[in-house]
Amino acid sequence: MKKSIKKVIALILCLAMVISVSAIGASATDRITDCDGKCEHYPSIIVHGLGQSNTWVVDDNGDFVLDDDGNKISSFPAYIQLEKVIAKILVPALLSLVFQKDIGLSEAAADVINLCFGINTCDENGQPSENVYTEKYPYPVSECEDFEQEEIFSHVPFNLYETEQPMDHMYYFTYNSFDNHMDIVEELYEYIQMVKEQTGHDQVTLTPLSQGATLVSAMLDYKPEVMDELHKIIFVVPALDGSTIIGDVFNGRISFLNPDYVYNGFLGELGLMDKGTAALVETLLRILPDEVIMSVLESAVDTLVTDVMIRSTSMWALCPSGDYPTAAEKHLSDPSMAKIKEQTDRYYQAQLNADANILKAVDKGVQVFCFVEYDYAMINVGETWNTQNADFIIHTDSTSMGAHFANVGETLPEDYVQQNINCDDPTHNHISPDRVVDASVGLLPDTTFYFDNQRHDLTARNDVILKLALNLIESDNIQNVYSDPRFPQFNIARGSEKLVELVELAGTVDTSALSAEDAQELAAAVAEAERVIDSTIGVVGEVEATEERLTACLVKAGVLEAEEEPVSLDVFTKISPVIYEYFGSDGYSEIAILIAAKALKAVTDIVVKFI
Ligand SMILES: [Zn+2]
Ligand SMILES: [Zn+2]
Repeated sequence: MKKSIKKVIALILCLAMVISVSAIGASATDRITDCDGKCEHYPSIIVHGLGQSNTWVVDDNGDFVLDDDGNKISSFPAYIQLEKVIAKILVPALLSLVFQKDIGLSEAAADVINLCFGINTCDENGQPSENVYTEKYPYPVSECEDFEQEEIFSHVPFNLYETEQPMDHMYYFTYNSFDNHMDIVEELYEYIQMVKEQTGHDQVTLTPLSQGATLVSAMLDYKPEVMDELHKIIFVVPALDGSTIIGDVFNGRISFLNPDYVYNGFLGELGLMDKGTAALVETLLRILPDEVIMSVLESAVDTLVTDVMIRSTSMWALCPSGDYPTAAEKHLSDPSMAKIKEQTDRYYQAQLNADANILKAVDKGVQVFCFVEYDYAMINVGETWNTQNADFIIHTDSTSMGAHFANVGETLPEDYVQQNINCDDPTHNHISPDRVVDASVGLLPDTTFYFDNQRHDLTARNDVILKLALNLIESDNIQNVYSDPRFPQFNIARGSEKLVELVELAGTVDTSALSAEDAQELAAAVAEAERVIDSTIGVVGEVEATEERLTACLVKAGVLEAEEEPVSLDVFTKISPVIYEYFGSDGYSEIAILIAAKALKAVTDIVVKFI
């Protein structure tokens, strides 16, 4: 699509927002599709999750700020200006290191947080800085330029799978994850009106992912009339009742501000690096006394929470309803926060009404589906991280709309009986095969799909989730978890990306150069891989075993090199706990003093014995 046409569309959108959409109405010139709203595919709008769109740093004139290579600079999650960061931190870090005391280091940490995250700080009205520009796509994916499509597919790679949904019926709504929540909700509502005009359809399908669900949930409450404009909502790992990470952080329950936790396996449990590296970092941290490390961490977290996060109404929308009242009391009681509190209180109401609103939508004929991931321990930054089931980022009570779960690694008691709170069909079995979930307790047991052991931030790599979502987007063939045996209620974590690559590579092998036996094994391995790729029923370990078999064939055929064992830092997983056992969270200088004191005492004891 030509830039000029985009500009016209953008102009129409602006006008529409100013004069109000109804006054303009749909005109033939707005139409992008030629179905005139009469085809069987409802236009679909993806409402992405945290940080899944381009947000760029701009100067006060609105021009992009560029880096040394002339590239735009992302503002999410922070605007990192490395030179300025080093300038702020270097001297206090060196002084603190030499004197083994906090000499301006915790203050510098606060400055660095403000320097990097300041761009995402909202004002006392909850309005964002004007130095961030969010890339928007006010047209379908088919009209997006290559770089725009690339950005969309990098977050939601539906380009990898076949679909009947025409790309001029696919939209990607973008927003800045720190922005004003109410304004984004309003924008989403206007976007739906725009999509209706561009396609001629009078209803759309929404696919909110993770944080995106807070926007849809708010919209159902603030603008209930939108229910008539919705054909379907496909919630994918929705943060419908926030995440306990935010609930814990906003209530001051932060696990890593406790030295005994930091030096005793915290980093290894974090899941962001392998255990060897984590133990190495843990060991290196002792270069400074634990008091210094702790005051630096406290200062950084305090600045991040009080200067950035609690001013963002979008972050507040991620606070679970159970945690909101105490967190609001703690951070929003000051009169200067009144405008922000007014808005967060309003969202809190929407959150409390969420289940009722969703049922109202269902009553009005909106089909509502949900994807839940479970049995992946919550990231351990909040103190309540291991108290309930989760998908690493969101607790399952939030994503499943209240289903009942055993905790991660546990199963429901042997005598547990399905509670059937929201399902009245006695023939339905809503207990997961692994006996971890009772889906009948969740709000929508017959239209909620569960994925065992699936990690939240790797959702887009799960080919089954993508295929099922596309299936729901393109047609109404699947009505519930019993409609299609290829997509049962309970499935597992998996990703077939690497297997697809291996099969492609296998296609390049000159089989005439192989022995009959090797050629036969390669063909069999490829056939097995294709069967696994096509299958939508996950079997634990199947993808990995198939990858291994095919890899072995490809190595033998000489098109792939055997993977070398990476350098292992595992030795530190043995060293770090021993240091902790003997010296707690002390830094090396403290440990050295302790050892010197012990040695001195030993020598004194010996000397005393001899005199
Ligand atoms: Zn159509
Ligand atoms: Zn049922």
